[in-house]
Amino acid sequence: MVNHWPSTLLGLFCFSFKSVDTGRPQVFDYPMTNPFERPIAELNLAQGLTLENDWFALKQLDQSTWAIGEPAYHQMNWSYLLVSNDEALLFDTGSGYRPIAPLVRHLTDAHISAFPSHMHHDHLGNISSFERIIVADLPILRGIAKGNQITVPDDMFLGASEGQTAPGFSVSHWASLAQSLTLGERSLHILHTPGHSPDSVSIWEPANATLFAADFIYRGELYAQTPYASLPDYLATTKHLLEILPKNLRIVCAHGQTEAGTDDMPELAYSDLTDLHVTLERLLTEAPHTGETRVNDHMLLMHSSESFSA
Ligand SMILES: [Zn+2]
Repeated sequence: MVNHWPSTLLGLFCFSFKSVDTGRPQVFDYPMTNPFERPIAELNLAQGLTLENDWFALKQLDQSTWAIGEPAYHQMNWSYLLVSNDEALLFDTGSGYRPIAPLVRHLTDAHISAFPSHMHHDHLGNISSFERIIVADLPILRGIAKGNQITVPDDMFLGASEGQTAPGFSVSHWASLAQSLTLGERSLHILHTPGHSPDSVSIWEPANATLFAADFIYRGELYAQTPYASLPDYLATTKHLLEILPKNLRIVCAHGQTEAGTDDMPELAYSDLTDLHVTLERLLTEAPHTGETRVNDHMLLMHSSESFSA
């Protein structure tokens, strides 16, 4: 999800910033007023979640996996930290309105690699604060790189509406999609999941039957109306996931709330993939048009005329 102007959140809020004391220098300037967030006092964190640094919602999934949410940000982003032995992977770095790196370094002593699910601005926040950055080895991403240096094009980044400037960063490792990514003792499969954007990837971890879906499927308004979104790609990816994934999988998402009004890590199930598949098949029999189509109680699919044929 990107570029969702929060009509209910307009207005400037002031806030104070309290960082985790990691002993590391802070290298960023933080915007101290931001129209894209609601006051922390309005959060209603689910049981078991803790508020960290007066911004992040932290949920521990198991001994070595954390969900790190930004429920006060209007897009309600969630990033995921996976750790094994001395290696850690941070799948998405969040909105960038607060630095996520100090919190992650507080959670683990392991060597941290940041891994963006795609190049939209709300998943790349402060990414250059990570020394090691993994990028999916996709032709579209090789195409925006000069060697190992990526400068994200504005029409991929889509951060202008929030006054954000596309970052440049150096790729430490291009993750092949043909083989699994080994993280300590964990084996992760990087799945290309175009639809929302052509460069989107998700992580499938068979050992935990968990799909870290990022922006392919999440709770709320699914964005297939943004530049380069494609409904045919959305359909093909959904069909593929239904074929290769088990029915008992857990889908953890990059946006939304699990229950309306409760700030918790957003989750979906196999049946939601099925509902999305049915919706896309039906929608693509219609003439191209801009609008929104209900998927089920959890999702609304936003689309543009262009996304019918992209
Ligand atoms: Zn997003």
